[in-house]
Amino acid sequence: MIGLLLKKLKIPAQFVAENVIRTENCRLCGEKHGKLISVVDYWDIKTSSIIKCEKCGLSQLDPMLTDAETSKGCLAYYIEESLRCSLHEQKRNLLRNFRRGVVFAYSLKKRNIVPENILEFGPGSGYFLQGIKFVFPKIKITVLDINQEILTLNEKHHQYETIKATPEKHIEELKNKFDLIIARDIIEHVSDISKMLQNVYYYSKPNGLFHFITPNGHEDVWKHYLTYKFKKQNSELLINHVNYFDGKGLLEHLQQHQFSNVEYYTYSLKSTRKGYGWKEKTKLMSTVSTKKESDTYINDKISELQNDDFNKEEILSTWYINDKTKFFTYLVCLYHQSKLFKVNPIHNIGHEIHGLFKIKK
Ligand SMILES: [Zn+2]
Repeated sequence: MIGLLLKKLKIPAQFVAENVIRTENCRLCGEKHGKLISVVDYWDIKTSSIIKCEKCGLSQLDPMLTDAETSKGCLAYYIEESLRCSLHEQKRNLLRNFRRGVVFAYSLKKRNIVPENILEFGPGSGYFLQGIKFVFPKIKITVLDINQEILTLNEKHHQYETIKATPEKHIEELKNKFDLIIARDIIEHVSDISKMLQNVYYYSKPNGLFHFITPNGHEDVWKHYLTYKFKKQNSELLINHVNYFDGKGLLEHLQQHQFSNVEYYTYSLKSTRKGYGWKEKTKLMSTVSTKKESDTYINDKISELQNDDFNKEEILSTWYINDKTKFFTYLVCLYHQSKLFKVNPIHNIGHEIHGLFKIKK
C-alpha cells in the first residue's frame, strides 16, 4: 500500500548520474562500476567521489579514507562539534542516550531476551549501555573503540571492559563470546563494512543478537548529490560518513550472511516530508567545500574546549529515574522517544534505520 503511494509520488527520487569505473571495487559486493553521485572534500584531508553501486545499492566514498585520515578528521570533528554544542546540550544528550538504552532493553525483555554479555562498537559516552544496565543490572559490558580517550572515559565512569581496535580488525579471542552486539551510528563510518559484519558474526554466540542504527543513506547522500548536480562543485564532508546504505541492499546483504531480521524499520519521517531525499531544491544542498583546515582545530582550537568531565550521579539524578520503580522509568523514557510511524527501509524514506538481527550459526 505505502509502496504504491510512494511510487506514485516518485519518492524517493532516483539519482540521475554518470556511470563510471571505480578506483576501488564496492566493499559490499565487489562491483567495479557505479554511478558518480558527488565529489566531496573530507576537511582538507582528502577528496573522494561518492559512487553508488547499482548492484547492491550502497553509496560509498571512492577512494575510501585510510585509518590515519579517518582518525585525523574524527579528532578535528570532535573539537568542532564540542565547540558548537553547549555543555548543557551535551549533558542532555547523555540523558537522551540513557533513555534510549532503557527503551531498547525493555524491547528485549518483552521478547523474553535477557542478555548476559554485551559488546558495543563505538560506545561514545557509554550512556546507552547505562540504560541497558538499568534494566539488566547483572549484565557484563565490553566496549570497543579506536580512540583511547573514549575508552578511558568509559572505564572511568562506568567500569566497562575496553578493547582498543577498529571494528574491521579481527580479534580471535572474541569468538562466540557475546549474546548481544551493538553498533549505533557506526556502520556508516567504517571503511570496510564487509569485514566488520564478518567480525560481528564471529564474535556472536549462536543465536546472538546484532543491533544497529544508521542513517537512511538515500536521504543522507541526497544533499551531496544536489551540490554536485546544481553546482558541479565539491561539497563539504566533516563527519566521516563513508557509507550511505540502501535499505533493501543492506537487508539482502545481512540475510545472505546468516543475519535474520527480528526488527527492521525506519522512523522519523519528518525529514521526508521536508523533501530530504527526493526534492531537487537548491536549499537542500550540502555546503560547498572550503577545505576546512583540520590542523587549525587539532593544534589551536583544542585549547578552547571546556573541561567536560561529567558527574554521572548528577546527570542521572532526574525525577523519573528510580531503581525501585523501573517500569515507571521505562514509561517516561518511552514517552520521550515514541516512534509513532515505522516504515519498511526498502522504501528508503525516514531519517534513520533501526535493525535488530539474530545471528544463525
Ligand atoms: Zn556493491
